[in-house]
Amino acid sequence: MIVLVQSFELYKYILENNVYPREPSPLKEIRDVTTNHPTYFMSTAPDTAQLMGMLLKLLNAKKAIEIGVYTGYSLLLTALSIPRDAMIIGIDPDREAYEIGLPIFQKAGVEHKINFIESKALPVLDKLLQNQKENEGSFDFAFIDADKDNYLNYHGRLLKLVKVDGLIVFDNTLWGGTVVQPEEDVPGKRKESWTSFIVFNKSISRDQHEQNIRF
Ligand code: SAH
Ligand code: CA
Repeated sequence: MIVLVQSFELYKYILENNVYPREPSPLKEIRDVTTNHPTYFMSTAPDTAQLMGMLLKLLNAKKAIEIGVYTGYSLLLTALSIPRDAMIIGIDPDREAYEIGLPIFQKAGVEHKINFIESKALPVLDKLLQNQKENEGSFDFAFIDADKDNYLNYHGRLLKLVKVDGLIVFDNTLWGGTVVQPEEDVPGKRKESWTSFIVFNKSISRDQHEQNIRF
């Protein structure tokens, strides 16, 4: 039997020996300016981001979309990982948080690739779908990192917007590991959205046309 021991020390080792040495300096700057923000923990972890960067490069993604930008760690990671003439749409109703990262996107020379839309995501996806000719099947990559209770709604729309060989990444679907717990044992802060994740995970696993990977 193989037992994978996960510990804070091991994670720290991976970060210090593998992840931080490869982190581009503009991304470290985003991490630094986010540290004192009240919800700093929402930022994408650098190791997760580096995996996403690898996927974006393998896909040769030219058109990406992100739901939930915050101060822009994953947005900047995407902008740095896609070619010069590629673009990413980032959607978030919180412009203030986006503007914390903005000077860093500008300095990194990737602002031209970023189309930030200050809004909740659902109406933006619906608007993109109205312009079917231009947008349907046109995105290579989508990252969903917000508004957990709408994941199924996003999924339905993104299946139309993302091309057949594209990739849709949903964050948080194991909800901190609580999806294996009985509902009554789920800690208070995780109770919200817990049912949404149970329903979402069951629902997308039923679709034979999609490949699912969880990590
Ligand atoms: N990907 C980001 C973290 C996102 S945190 C990073 O790497 O830093 C979640 C973000 O989702 C918050 O900034 C919040 O304002 C945004 N959000 C909340 N509801 C939303 C909605 N309905 N549509 C789009 N974004 C939403
Ligand atoms: Ca996240």
